[in-house]
Amino acid sequence: AVHTIAHLFNMERYNQSQQATDRSLPAVLSKMHLQGNNWLNPIHSNQTTVEYVAFTTIPGLTGVIITLALILMVTSSTEFIRRNYFEVFWYTHHLFLIYFAGLVIHGIAGLVRGQTEQSMAEVHPHHCAHYLTQRDQNCTHDCCKDPEFGSIPAESWKWVLAPIILYIFERILRVWRARQKVLVKKVVMHPARVLELQMQKKGFRMEVGQYIFVNCPAISPLEWHPFTLTSAPEEDFFSIHIRVAGDWTERLIDTFQSEIPRIEVDGPFGTASEDVFQYEVAMLVGAGIGVTPFASILKSIWYKFQQADQTLKTKKIYFYWLCRDTGAFAWFNDLLASLEQKMAESGKADFLTYRLFLTGWDTSIVS
Ligand SMILES: Cc1cc2nc3c(=O)[nH]c(=O)nc-3n(C[C@H](O)[C@H](O)[C@H](O)COP(=O)(O)OP(=O)(O)OC[C@H]3O[C@@H](n4cnc5c(N)ncnc54)[C@H](O)[C@@H]3O)c2cc1C
Repeated sequence: AVHTIAHLFNMERYNQSQQATDRSLPAVLSKMHLQGNNWLNPIHSNQTTVEYVAFTTIPGLTGVIITLALILMVTSSTEFIRRNYFEVFWYTHHLFLIYFAGLVIHGIAGLVRGQTEQSMAEVHPHHCAHYLTQRDQNCTHDCCKDPEFGSIPAESWKWVLAPIILYIFERILRVWRARQKVLVKKVVMHPARVLELQMQKKGFRMEVGQYIFVNCPAISPLEWHPFTLTSAPEEDFFSIHIRVAGDWTERLIDTFQSEIPRIEVDGPFGTASEDVFQYEVAMLVGAGIGVTPFASILKSIWYKFQQADQTLKTKKIYFYWLCRDTGAFAWFNDLLASLEQKMAESGKADFLTYRLFLTGWDTSIVS
């Protein structure tokens, strides 16, 4: 915004300097070298308007385009749009490609000019500026020479080159990873329309608390949705639990009820929650589908117990889960019940204390 506003003021001042008829320094400099290539003011005649420069030159046009792209990206990133129209936010954000392309070529026409180094050495503005406004034809002083101006080389590419290379590298890596075949081993439809997918993929390694991006080309080849892994690293598959939240999850669950579509998986991503195993007492608090990372943690603890893993310091876990309806409890219930039973069998019945809170209630639940 600062850059754009500065340009708007600048353009207006260029225009005023070009139109000025007094012998002020801006007026004198604006009239210099209009026929050659050494001009300073990009507005070369009184007829040239600011709008003409803005819409017919490369810097002007790219400036307008990247400003519009930025305005659209910023406004569509507001929480309201992200929550209610995620796709609008997602697709609009890809204007960043136009933004960066425009940014790189914005300065190449060399519209922003300055005095050349050689001319500076001869006619330095600090000492010579007043000669320019007052000189007459007979002036023989060094300062009476005409200063020469040239374009300042475009530099924005230097700032964006490294991020662009990293981004392209990351895209290639993600496309390659996403193309690895995913085998859907098991599909479980839980109550409250929660779909569990158990999958296998060559070379897939995970840590507790991580998430993956899932794409189903049959629904939308461009949409990737994040889901937390609910399996433990010790298992020979990875799993996710998907709750209906909008159109994509709705269509995915409907599709899985009739056939098993092709699924692409990218990841895992995110920092692992392995720290939990370093503490003697852990308190896990989850709400609704936000319980998913704890499924992974609880399962992993169980495997570590089985394998008498010495890295496990945890002696006690308090687990709290808040849910709106009873249906949601059902799908996690199996895991909790089996964990409780196994802990009791191995003489560690008090290892896990859990409390489930139901926040939505109506009388039909009693019956
Ligand atoms: C790190 C992470 C882990 C998640 N883990 C789970 C999980 O284990 N189980 C589960 O059921 N849900 C999980 N979600 C939420 C899940 O990604 C969204 O419910 C799903 O993408 C909704 O898509 P939709 O088109 O059906 O709904 P929409 O109506 O498009 O969106 C519903 C909500 O999901 C958000 N959303 C939509 N698409 C995306 C996207 N591509 N990336 C991020 N957010 C999006 C929107 O902001 C909106 O608030 C997780 C989200 C994140 C960010």
